[in-house]
Amino acid sequence: MFDVVVVGAGPAGSMAAKTCAERGLNVLLIEKRQEIGTPVRCAEGISKQSLGKFLKVDKKWIAAEVFGAKIYAPDGTEVVMAEEMAGNEVGFVLERKIFDRHLARLAAKAGAEIIVKTAFVSFERVGDKLRLKMNKMGERWEVETKILIGADGVESRVGRIAGIIKTLKKSEIESCAQYLISDIKIDESYTYFYLGKNLAPGGYAWIFPKENNCANVGIGVLPSMAKATAKEYLDKFIEKIGVKGKIVELVCGAVPVYGEITTAVTDNIMLAGDAAYHSDPITGGGIANALSAGYHAGVVAYEAVEKDNFSSSFLMKYDELWKTDFGWKLGRNKKIQEFLLKLDDDMLNNLAKSISGINIREMSVQAIITELVKRNPSLIEILRNF
Ligand SMILES: Cc1cc2nc3c(=O)[nH]c(=O)nc-3n(C[C@H](O)[C@H](O)[C@H](O)COP(=O)(O)OP(=O)(O)OC[C@H]3O[C@@H](n4cnc5c(N)ncnc54)[C@H](O)[C@@H]3O)c2cc1C
Repeated sequence: MFDVVVVGAGPAGSMAAKTCAERGLNVLLIEKRQEIGTPVRCAEGISKQSLGKFLKVDKKWIAAEVFGAKIYAPDGTEVVMAEEMAGNEVGFVLERKIFDRHLARLAAKAGAEIIVKTAFVSFERVGDKLRLKMNKMGERWEVETKILIGADGVESRVGRIAGIIKTLKKSEIESCAQYLISDIKIDESYTYFYLGKNLAPGGYAWIFPKENNCANVGIGVLPSMAKATAKEYLDKFIEKIGVKGKIVELVCGAVPVYGEITTAVTDNIMLAGDAAYHSDPITGGGIANALSAGYHAGVVAYEAVEKDNFSSSFLMKYDELWKTDFGWKLGRNKKIQEFLLKLDDDMLNNLAKSISGINIREMSVQAIITELVKRNPSLIEILRNF
């Protein structure tokens, strides 16, 4: 019998397990893969501010420090965002193989039990607790728990079996492909984003620098708009931009771009991170929100165990916390994403031209939108509701 079982040792799961264990709960963290942190299905970018909220930054898991971002419209018009932070870096490209393991170690250090190669299969209700069925290294295994935290990523099995989420539509998920390329020559001070209906329908391509002349070069496309696979779009992008280097890794994955779900809880169960579609509908970034959600879920799990109340009405406190923290942004950014999807390449070029050359000093989607509205007052009417 555990107080809390957390499914999935990504950022959300490890942060949830650490938060519960630090408060003295009896916690089990299970991970279906045999190694935590691999394969990496992520471009690994995160802002310094979001990372610093929960963790003391350790150079061991930083692959690069960046000072700004460059965004390219379909015709090549460049928009530069470079925050002024007295010479400080504004963002990091993580080494998630090390980062995810580090987080899991912090959970273990706090007292959580961690078992790898163990997959959540299903659950049944036993009184006011849950009996979980798992596959532990090829064998059936069952445990009981008061609280179950599903941090099992996009298409979460916990979430679907619990009836909290449904399978995403083709317009609600980005399909991604990414190469790790070595011997690449880029200015490593920036991250790079490329837009275009033909280049990346419903998404964008990116180049994120890593140490030793390596970079994550990837693309995300919306299956409802794409006419080929993400990998095919990626290969075309690399040819078009003339990226030179050696491909040393390929990863394919998916990111929810759903917006804000109504609730991430039911009796005894909370979902955190991609499992609750917590990634941003415009950027696809989900690490920061996964860390926040994991923390909030951990705090509420502790309070639920302390009060011996695992009902959905009690756990809804978790909904309040994540929605106030970042959920409202997911809802707003979903609307902005829907607006952006309607823009053709000419419109994107014109908008980029209107703010090209302006030094945008804050690294955020909001900062770009603000500049765009200043220079294109007609957007005010369209964006009023956001
Ligand atoms: C190509 C790509 C690029 C991305 N780039 C960025 C980026 O640059 N910046 C950013 O912020 N975000 C990025 N993201 C999104 C980011 O990777 C996710 O939002 C983030 O990893 C979510 O963390 P999580 O803990 O919720 O889920 P995950 O990191 O997906 O972890 C879920 C874990 O649960 C495990 N699991 C699944 N099912 C079970 C089961 N049944 N039993 C036990 N364990 C299970 C999985 O093996 C996995 O380890 C990218 C995503 C993709 C696909």
